[in-house]
Amino acid sequence: MTDSSSAVYPQLGMYIAGEWIMRADRTHQVIDPATGDLLGDLPLAQASDLDRALEAAERGFRVWRRTSVDERARVLHGAASLLRERVETIARNATREEGKTLAEMRVETLACAGLFDYYAEEAKRVYGRVLVRPTGTRSLVLKEPIGPVAAFAPWNFPVHNPGRKLGAPIAAGCSVILKPAEEAPASAMAVVQALIDAGCPGDVVQLVFGVPDEVSRHLLASPIIRKLSFTGSTAVGKHLMRLASDTVKVTTLELGGHAPVVIFDDCDLDRTVETLAASKVRNAGQVCISPTRFYVQQGIYDRFVEAYAARMERTRVGNGLNPDSMMGPMANPRRPVALAELVRDAVSHGARVRTGGEGIEGPGFFWKPTVLSEVPDSARVMNEEPFGPLVVTAPFATLDEVVEQANRLPFGLASYIFTENVRQANLMGDALEAGMVGINTTAIAAPDAPFGGVKQSGHGSEDGIEGLAACLVTKTIHQI
Ligand code: NAD
Repeated sequence: MTDSSSAVYPQLGMYIAGEWIMRADRTHQVIDPATGDLLGDLPLAQASDLDRALEAAERGFRVWRRTSVDERARVLHGAASLLRERVETIARNATREEGKTLAEMRVETLACAGLFDYYAEEAKRVYGRVLVRPTGTRSLVLKEPIGPVAAFAPWNFPVHNPGRKLGAPIAAGCSVILKPAEEAPASAMAVVQALIDAGCPGDVVQLVFGVPDEVSRHLLASPIIRKLSFTGSTAVGKHLMRLASDTVKVTTLELGGHAPVVIFDDCDLDRTVETLAASKVRNAGQVCISPTRFYVQQGIYDRFVEAYAARMERTRVGNGLNPDSMMGPMANPRRPVALAELVRDAVSHGARVRTGGEGIEGPGFFWKPTVLSEVPDSARVMNEEPFGPLVVTAPFATLDEVVEQANRLPFGLASYIFTENVRQANLMGDALEAGMVGINTTAIAAPDAPFGGVKQSGHGSEDGIEGLAACLVTKTIHQI
């Protein structure tokens, strides 16, 4: 195992048509969010680079769609093994560019390896069917890879998001042009490098960085691209969906959430507090399924808020490379500014700050774990995703009332329920408008479990057999 303390932050680049491109006229400065230090200069694509990536993706698709599933599985299993071998170096560099703790980054890197292994196996289980027809005639239903995919991955899971954008399409026989977030390029480079080292042909995966709006407009205008896969905010998702509509591309969109958490007075209080505290500070709350709107039944409201605020206060915040840190900095300077504004607005609407509510002095973009109580629906934070370590709480009386509250927003990604009453859990699970529901748990992502939302949280799933199906099209052949 490599000693992570000796990992050197790599020279940054793009991978186009089988070549690493380490220089460009324009660059983006990559910053360590824990220190504010410059980590490196990232080359950004020009239109001509994107055209070369499109041509390569077209060639790559022609080759890869004809490759045996055994070969695709070999590449994915090989990349998974390399990610495991390289986990210490990858995790350290990812923590430096994104901020989350090294322990979290190790888990994330291993989860990416697990996803590649899962799709290596699942690629072998893409089945068509034969329809009942008169003797001597046939009607066949075939599943074929959809074609070159343009995939946009955000910065919050710098290794796993690129892995999600690559695993299923590569298993299905597609080529991919991946544009990860410019904030965390070394992490995405490491995932692509693992695939290349495992034998993935150069034209099958393209890695580009650029000015996001330029890249997405260019790629989505091209008829070569057959599918858009985007993870990020609802606002950007809507914009990309419009761009994709001109050439009628298939879309998979994993957008923002505002996860409601319904805590009934019969829950196991200590376990609920601990589960929700650990889950909220994960990646400093910059997680689309982060538990956020806590509706607590009135009988335990005061006791819960007090215990939860005290537990959140014990979070040790610091550089993610420090083994003592339980939570790192926010990933970029935009988040603390947004959080400060949401807290100010909530307080002006009558909310109480029970802990936190402000940033931490010094270099880096640190923010204190924050709990607000008595937050009215009129406060912005009750309606906009905070995407940070911020929890809002409000009391409720009855199940019907809390269902209405939980479903009030246009989002529907993750929802959580804490209760020891099975019937109540079942009723809530059915009533919540969400793509994913956790009952007495916040662990709702797994390679074999579809991950995605409803309403304005997006459509289509990643992971699971649904993630593979989303990279396939159906063809029916009739023969007499
Ligand atoms: P943002 O809306 O500017 O960007 C979100 C993501 O989309 C980033 O990765 C960005 O690089 C990308 N992006 C932006 N404009 C794009 C374009 N025209 N074409 C292609 N990609 C584009 O916000 P941000 O400040 O980076 O992140 C904060 C917000 O984004 C949060 O409030 C949250 O809602 C959302 N977000 C969601 C997820 C998720 O997992 N669903 C992840 C990261 C960010």
